[in-house]
Amino acid sequence: MSSLLVVSAHAGDFVWRAAGAIALATARGDRAKVLCLTYGERGESAKAWREGKQLEEIKQLRRAEATNAAEVLGAEIEFLDAGDYPLLETPELIDRIVRVYREVEPSVVLTHPLVDPYNQDHPAAARMALHARVLAQAVGYDAPGDPLGAPPVFFFEPHQPEQCDFKPDVLLDITSVFDAKRKAMECLPAQQHMWDYYTDLAKRRGVQLKRNAGPNLGLPHNTMGEAYMRLYPQVTEVLA
Ligand SMILES: [Zn+2]
Repeated sequence: MSSLLVVSAHAGDFVWRAAGAIALATARGDRAKVLCLTYGERGESAKAWREGKQLEEIKQLRRAEATNAAEVLGAEIEFLDAGDYPLLETPELIDRIVRVYREVEPSVVLTHPLVDPYNQDHPAAARMALHARVLAQAVGYDAPGDPLGAPPVFFFEPHQPEQCDFKPDVLLDITSVFDAKRKAMECLPAQQHMWDYYTDLAKRRGVQLKRNAGPNLGLPHNTMGEAYMRLYPQVTEVLA
C-alpha cells in the first residue's frame, strides 16, 4: 500500500494547500497521514485571540478543527505541539519526525517550500521535514523501524507564491475530490477568509492544468487543480 506523509507547520496549512492530494490518496485506498508540528495557536489564530480566548483553549480549538478536516479527507492526523511563532528547530523535534517517517514509510512526502519571507515557521517545518527524511534513511540512525527509502518530496503552494520562489512544475487534477477539499476548508472557521481564496486558486490552477494537458484529454470546464514543486529529480525510464 502506498502512503502519503504531509508535514504541516500549523493546523490549517495542510488543508488549504494539500487537501486535494490527500483526498485523492485516500480515495485510491492509500494511507495518508498529516503531521502538524504545531496548532498555529499564536500565529494563525488571530480571530480566536480577538475573541478573548486563551492559549490552551485556542490550541484545543485548532486541534479539533484540524482533526475534523483530516477526517473529512480520510486521513490520520498527529500533533506534535512544538509551539509556533516561533517554531524552533531542535534535535528532539527532528527525532520525533524521524520516528514518524520510520512508522509511516511514506511513498510521497508533502511539505512547505523552503522560502517564505512572510512566515518563518513554514521554512522551519520544511527544513526539519527534509532533515528528518535524510536521517530516517540512515541505516545507523537509532529509531525503531526500517531505514526509509527515497520518497519524492513535493512542496505545496504557499500563500504568496512569487515571494516564496514558488514556480509550479506539477499540476494535480483535484476535480474529483474538490467537494471534499471545500468541506475540509469549512472545518476551519478560524480562517474563514481563506475558503473562497483557495477555491479561486484551485480554479486558476485548473485552467492552467487544462492548458498544459492540451485539448485531447477533454478535461471539463470546471477542472480544479493544486500546484506543487518537486525538490528532487523525477526518476523514470520513459520521458512523459
Ligand atoms: Zn501556516
